[in-house]
Amino acid sequence: MKQSNNPAHAGPTKPVTVSLPMYGDDTCEDPDPLGTRPPHPAHLKNGNGKGAGGTSRGTIESNDTLSDPGEAAMVMSDGARRVRDLAFPDATDAEWSDWKWQLRNRIRDEAMLARILRPTMIERRTIAELGDRLPVGITPYYASTINPNDPADPVRKTMVPVETEFEMSAGEQADPLGEDADMPVPGLVHRYPDRVLFLVTSFCAVYCRYCTRSRLVGKTGEYHFNTAQFERALDYLRKTPSVRDVLISGGDPLTMHDGRIDWLLGELRSIPHIDFVRIGTKIPCVLPQRITPEFCAMLKKHKPWMSIHFMHPNELTPEVAEACGRLMDAGVPLGSQTVLTQGVNDDADTMKRLMHGLLKIRVRPYYIYQCDPIPGSRHFRVPVEKGLEIIEALRGHTTGYAVPTFVIDGPGGGGKIPLMPNYVIGREGDDILLRNYAGEVFRYPDPVSDLSGVASGRR
Ligand code: SF4
Repeated sequence: MKQSNNPAHAGPTKPVTVSLPMYGDDTCEDPDPLGTRPPHPAHLKNGNGKGAGGTSRGTIESNDTLSDPGEAAMVMSDGARRVRDLAFPDATDAEWSDWKWQLRNRIRDEAMLARILRPTMIERRTIAELGDRLPVGITPYYASTINPNDPADPVRKTMVPVETEFEMSAGEQADPLGEDADMPVPGLVHRYPDRVLFLVTSFCAVYCRYCTRSRLVGKTGEYHFNTAQFERALDYLRKTPSVRDVLISGGDPLTMHDGRIDWLLGELRSIPHIDFVRIGTKIPCVLPQRITPEFCAMLKKHKPWMSIHFMHPNELTPEVAEACGRLMDAGVPLGSQTVLTQGVNDDADTMKRLMHGLLKIRVRPYYIYQCDPIPGSRHFRVPVEKGLEIIEALRGHTTGYAVPTFVIDGPGGGGKIPLMPNYVIGREGDDILLRNYAGEVFRYPDPVSDLSGVASGRR
C-alpha cells in the first residue's frame, strides 16, 4: 500500500520469532503465511485436489467444503471463469472463491505466467534475472483482469516486470520517504505528532512494480514482522498519548488471518487515546474473495477505516464491487489511493472512469500520488504537470466527490504535499480574480483592508 507517515529513530532490529497461544499454531513471523503450508485437508477431499462436489465445475454444491462458507457466495465474473478454465482446469468454483487457494496458487514465475498470457521476450528475461529484487506475485483472480494478448495492458504493466527496473536513475532511492530513519521501534513509523504508520507484514497478495516499499515487501532478511515486534510497537503506543491515529499497513495487512487482525485491532482499540484506526490495503482489489462475511463481521467490532489501492478501471469487476459492498455494509468507510503511472492511468479519461467507477461501488476517491522514485521506477514516472492536468480535467467537470487530492510525498520524509492547478489568478484592488473550471474569470470582493483587520484581530 502506498501510505507514508513518519519521524526519525532507530532502524530495523534483529528478527525474533515468537509464537503466541492466542494465534493457535501460527507464528507471527511468516512473510508468506500461506505459500509454504500444505492445503487445508478440506481441499483434498477427493484426492485429486478438488473440493467436495469438485467435479461439477461451474456450480457450488451445498456440501462444498470451504474454510469459510461465506466465500462461496462471491460472484465469479466471466474473465475469472476464463482464466480458471484455461490455467487451473482442475480448480472448482469453491476453490477459486477461497482466498487461501488464490494465495497458494499465485503466479510467481515465468512458467506460471505463460499459462495465463503470452509473456514477451523482455518479460521472460526480466523475470529470470530478478534475483533478490521485488518478486513477481499475482493472484489468479487479479491475472484474470489482464488482456492476455496485449503487452501494453495497464494491469499487466503494474505486475509484470520489464528490464527498465534494473536501471537506476537520478534521485531514486530504496527508501525514498525516509521511513527507516523514523522508527522509534521496528515497524512503527512516527513522524507527525498525532499519527503513526504501523507496518505489520512484508507479505502482499500481489507485488506492484512501482511499490514505495519494494525494499521490504515480498522479502525476508532484515525486515521481520512478528509478535514480539507487534508488542513493542503496542507498548510504544500505550506510552505515547500524543498518538491518536494509527495507519496499519505493510505489505498488505489483510493477508494476515482473521484472528491476528482481530487481536491487533482489539489491542489498538483498547488504548484510550487512539481514536482513529485505518487499514491500507490492496486486497479488495486483487483478492476480493478475502472479504468474507466473517471477516466483515470481525471488522465491524473494531470500526476501522480502509484505504484501498486502485490503479485502473479494469480492476472494477463484479467481484470487487461485491467485496467493497460487503465492507461498506459492515460500516467500514472506504477511500481509494492511486499511483499516477505511465501507460497505466496517466490520462484524464482513464482517471475519470476510475473515479466514477469507484463512486459507483461506494469508494471515495482520496489520493492520487505522484510515483515515488524507487530504484528502477523511471519508466513509471510522468511529469508532475500531467497530474495537475488530470486534476484540472476533473475539478468542476465532474462530481466533487470524484476528485481526489493529488500529492507528492516529500522525498526523505516531507509528508504529503498537495498540488492543485492555480485557480487564483491575481488581485485587482479589493477584488480577488479567480478562474473557474471552464476558464471564465470572476471577481470576488475581498477588500485588503478587511483582511488586514482580520489579521490584526480588529474585527
Ligand atoms: S500491495 Fe504490496 S506491493 Fe503493492 S503497493 Fe501495496 S505494499 Fe506495495
